[in-house]
Amino acid sequence: MMRQYELVDRVRRYNPATNEALLNRAFVYAMKAHGSQKRASGDPYFSHPLEVAAILTDLKLDDATIAAALLHDTIEDTDATRSQIDKQFGKDIGELVDGLTKLKKLDLVSQRAEQAENLRKLLLAIASDVRVLLVKLADRLHNMRTLKWVPLEKRNRIAEETLDIYAPLAGRIGMHDMREELEDLSFRQLMPEAYQSIETRLVGLRKTNKSIIKEIEDELTEELAKKTIKATVKGREKRPYSIWRKMERKAVGFEQLSDIFGFRVIVPTVEDCYRAVGTVHTKWAFVPGRFKDYISTPKQNDYRSIHTTVFGLGRQRVELQIRTRAMDNIAEYGIAAHALYKDSASAPMEALAKESNAYAWLRRTIEMLAEGSSPEEFLEHTKLELFHDQVFCFTPKGRLIALPRRATPIDFAYAVHTDVGNNAVGCKINGKVAPLVTELQTGDEVEIIRGEGQHPPAAWESLVVTGKARAAIRRATRVAVRTQYLGLGRKMIERAFARAAKPWSEERLQKSLSRLARASIEDVFAAVGRGEIKASDVVKAIHPEWREEKRPVEPAPRSEGWFGLSRVKSLKFRIPGFGGSGPHKEEELSSAIPIRGINGDLPVRFAPQGGAVPGDRIVGILTPGKGITIYPIHSPALKEFDDEPGRWLDVRWDVDDGGMQRFPARLLLRAKNQPGTLAQVAQIIGEHGGNIDNIHMERRSPDFTKMTIDLGVYDLKHLNAIIDELRAKPVVSSAERFNG
Ligand code: MN
Repeated sequence: MMRQYELVDRVRRYNPATNEALLNRAFVYAMKAHGSQKRASGDPYFSHPLEVAAILTDLKLDDATIAAALLHDTIEDTDATRSQIDKQFGKDIGELVDGLTKLKKLDLVSQRAEQAENLRKLLLAIASDVRVLLVKLADRLHNMRTLKWVPLEKRNRIAEETLDIYAPLAGRIGMHDMREELEDLSFRQLMPEAYQSIETRLVGLRKTNKSIIKEIEDELTEELAKKTIKATVKGREKRPYSIWRKMERKAVGFEQLSDIFGFRVIVPTVEDCYRAVGTVHTKWAFVPGRFKDYISTPKQNDYRSIHTTVFGLGRQRVELQIRTRAMDNIAEYGIAAHALYKDSASAPMEALAKESNAYAWLRRTIEMLAEGSSPEEFLEHTKLELFHDQVFCFTPKGRLIALPRRATPIDFAYAVHTDVGNNAVGCKINGKVAPLVTELQTGDEVEIIRGEGQHPPAAWESLVVTGKARAAIRRATRVAVRTQYLGLGRKMIERAFARAAKPWSEERLQKSLSRLARASIEDVFAAVGRGEIKASDVVKAIHPEWREEKRPVEPAPRSEGWFGLSRVKSLKFRIPGFGGSGPHKEEELSSAIPIRGINGDLPVRFAPQGGAVPGDRIVGILTPGKGITIYPIHSPALKEFDDEPGRWLDVRWDVDDGGMQRFPARLLLRAKNQPGTLAQVAQIIGEHGGNIDNIHMERRSPDFTKMTIDLGVYDLKHLNAIIDELRAKPVVSSAERFNG
């Protein structure tokens, strides 16, 4: 067990002005209070608060925190009282110990509600004095280090709680080392076999790489010294839990040095950081996409550093973190690195809130979360919102909107208000127009552009990450679907009346509702739209004497770009979003109700530019009074209809494999100018059963000809086979499908 003077020595090393008398009194008081109490390990109980205090000296904390650590279990576990502590050590320390006493129950409860309530207390206590959290984390760390003495049945619960709550919380406030150790200790308890297998591999890799580590450190130091950058380079092994998570996330093993080792380059100034990056990138090739500048854009928890990965250093792929000493301290100690625990500071927490984003963030979040709800809800909320990665954005008026990571402006809009979400048509992020699917970053100011009478496209449901947005979109989609059925049904009825040469009016329909067994005109429209009632039956309901003539449908003339209506047989129309979404897309399609009865009622054509073939994902655009145009989903022409979701129809191919129908597609070809080129191209297409409808040739340069070929193919596979074959010909320099 550490001696009294050893503890005081440790504090004096970083704080020469320490109040030794205070530390000594706290030491003696706690030791006496715990008396002959023993820990589960058989050690004197006092060894625990002493170790907790020692952990906090590693973080270089102030006297009050160290004293509070020594005293943290006295009120709960001994005869000591709050008023005694206050009298002997002052109100500041008394409050810290009191806060910790209240939280002690958190370790022992199994009831969820109690746990939640205590967590709430913990968070509220942090909000007034973050030192409570620092002692609590050190307390938990020591308990995790000595977990093997705890009764078996309790170990997993403690480890889970540590992994769920304390480790992420430590990460949130930037205490990287603390977080990693808590994670590893929990990991070892919860998944001993996985832990062991990683540990075994690490031992092997450590051996193989031993000399390389030193080599790389030296090579880097030397190279930087050439540019007069005084750098300290240190290879650092990654921790088992972080390796495990990476393996899980990417479903890969670990083999290379860069999987287990990272190198820290510590330099004197910020300028040196950038000079060092320049030097490293000049000397070795860097891996694109791995360069991150967290100096100009610090992480939420105040972490600042430059990250990059280079090839070739020590003949390896090497990960580098480049930063100053001060940044390194923050990276390791987080909030605790802010030298704000001077006992003299009048309002240290206020100052901390100003200096530390992490702490300011923590307080803001806690205040937001503390506003009510039941303790269980609070726990869920907290786990969800506080401990998972989050982004914080603002409305133009400065209202803070907290969203889970990967949230989009659509989520943001729904978080502001359901109506705002439903009417959203666009957005500005930090004053610039941006797509609604942009991933939001913390600090973004988001302005939602609204269009009245809009409703959200069903496809948004799969783009959003918040439950609120998803539920609202689903609701709005249900309404929109009905509206769409109504609109479609009305169009079909109007057409049917026109073809029958009968006058159409809603009043008449109103009187005939009973004959159609529907309660309202809208119900009739919707039923026709859904295909439950034939439009011609509506005509008959009003004009019982009318007899439907069986007329063959006349195809629209080809010259107008309209394809034959017979083609419509190969399509099924569906209302977007009908019957759910998400992972069951295929199911949704097959269970959705096709709109029957379109044949002959509404003309259908393919997009005039480029066409569409089975295999393409397609949508239909409804033009009132004109019909439906089929576009491939990737067609840029669809942009024009972005703000009119009501006109979009889900359409699916319904091609009978036996029917050798052809569908239109357009190819763009670049071919060499040489005799017989066109013949070769035509031959390939012909041999593969493609049918050329039209060829347009354009000579842009003496060497090459650009060809635009309209052809009929059976499906996408057929088309791609033709394209592949064309590309394989030496005379063809490029072949592309045109997506107009
Ligand atoms: Mn304790």
